[in-house]
Amino acid sequence: MTPAPDLSNRIALVTGASRGIGYHIARQMAAAGAHVIAVARTVGGLEELDDEIKAERARTGRGEATLVPLDLTDMQGIDRLGGAINDRWGKLDILVANAGVLGVIAPIGHVEAKVFDKVMAVNVTATWRLIRSVDPLLRLSDAGRAILLSSGAAHSARAFWAPYAASKAAVEALGRSWADETRNMKLRVNCVDPGRTRTAMRAQAAPGEDPATLPHPSEIAANILPLASPELTETGRIFQAKPQRWVSYRMPE
Ligand code: NDP
Repeated sequence: MTPAPDLSNRIALVTGASRGIGYHIARQMAAAGAHVIAVARTVGGLEELDDEIKAERARTGRGEATLVPLDLTDMQGIDRLGGAINDRWGKLDILVANAGVLGVIAPIGHVEAKVFDKVMAVNVTATWRLIRSVDPLLRLSDAGRAILLSSGAAHSARAFWAPYAASKAAVEALGRSWADETRNMKLRVNCVDPGRTRTAMRAQAAPGEDPATLPHPSEIAANILPLASPELTETGRIFQAKPQRWVSYRMPE
C-alpha cells in the first residue's frame, strides 16, 4: 500500500463521505492527522465515519471530523459551506470532490431528461460550484490541494454510459482549466480515476459482477491520499489509483 502522507492539522473537505471511496478517503485523511469536513446526505453514514474517526483519535490523538449533511444539488448550500469554512478556519488545505452519481446505464435516446439533469447537477454543476466556493480558501493555504474524482468513462467509448461519461469528461475539463489558472500558485489541482471499485455505484453499474473480484475502497483511497500531500508537485494531471498501478496519463497541452 502507498504510504500515507502526513496531513497533521490540515483542513480537508471531502464530499460523498457517507460511504464508498469518499468514506475511506475521509477516514484515512483523519488518521493521517487532518480535520475532515465530511459532506453527504446520509446522516447515518456520516455518523459512522465520525465514530471511526473518534475511536482512532482515542488511540492515536490524531484526526477530527465536522459533519455537514448537505444535498449537493443545493447550490446555495454549497456557497454557504465556503462561507462557513472561511468563518471557522479562514482557509482550506484540501478539497476532495468525490460525490457522484451514475444515473442510468441505457441507450442515449432512452435517457430521461430528469436523470440526465441530475447526473450533470451532482457531478458537474456541484463540482464547479464547490470549486467557486472554496477556490479563494485553497489559495490561502500554504499547500492547497484539490482532487477531483473522474472515471475511465471520461476517455473510453462506452455504449450506454453517455450521461455519466459526459459528466466525467466535464469534470476533467474543469480540473484542467482550474489547474492552468493556478499553475503559478501553491495550489495543485489533479483528477483521479479510481478504477472499478467495490462500492454501491459499481454494483449499480455492473450488477452481475462478483464484488469480491474488485478492490476494496480502502485500497483505492490509500492510493488517492498522496495527491493531498503538501509535498506534491504535479498539477493538471489525470491519475489512476488502481492498486499497484500508480500511473498518470500524459494529457495533451
Ligand atoms: P458511491 O455511490 O458508493 O458513493 C457516492 C457518494 O456520493 C455517497 O457518499 C453519496 O452520499 C454521495 N452523493 C451522491 N449524491 C449526492 C448528493 N446529491 N449530495 C451529496 N452527496 C451525494 O460511489 P463511489 O464511492 O463508487 O464513487 C465515488 C466517486 O468515484 C464518484 O465520483 C464516482 O463517479 C467515482 N468512480 C467510481 C468508480 C467505482 O467503480 N466505484 C469507478 C470510477 C469512478 P449520500 O447518498 O449520502 O448523499
